[in-house]
Amino acid sequence: MFEIRIICDTSDVPRVAQAVLGSVDATSIRRYPARDPAGTRLYITADHRGSHAGCTVCAQDGMALWLRLDGSEQRRPCTGIGEEDMLAAGLLLGARRSEPWTANDDRSTEAPF
Ligand SMILES: [Zn+2]
Repeated sequence: MFEIRIICDTSDVPRVAQAVLGSVDATSIRRYPARDPAGTRLYITADHRGSHAGCTVCAQDGMALWLRLDGSEQRRPCTGIGEEDMLAAGLLLGARRSEPWTANDDRSTEAPF
């Protein structure tokens, strides 16, 4: 388990979040304003990326569709976080709020049927 701290332009949050979250298995994400009014701070608690065999976000292949700035979609590494949770955490285009996100521990104990 480790923590990733990011300070970036607020407009870059969706791209930065996808790149970082597609590389790890996040367990919590907090988003705050930076000292620079145009900036954002992200605190991501994560573990090394594991298998997506039980993932409910992707087709269990570790890849997912990602909305690009021009409105098109692209297959990118799965973040393991559903779109509504990404939106609620303020990590997608058009997000109007940002709430801390914490992984649901049910992932590892979910019944196979
Ligand atoms: Zn996945």
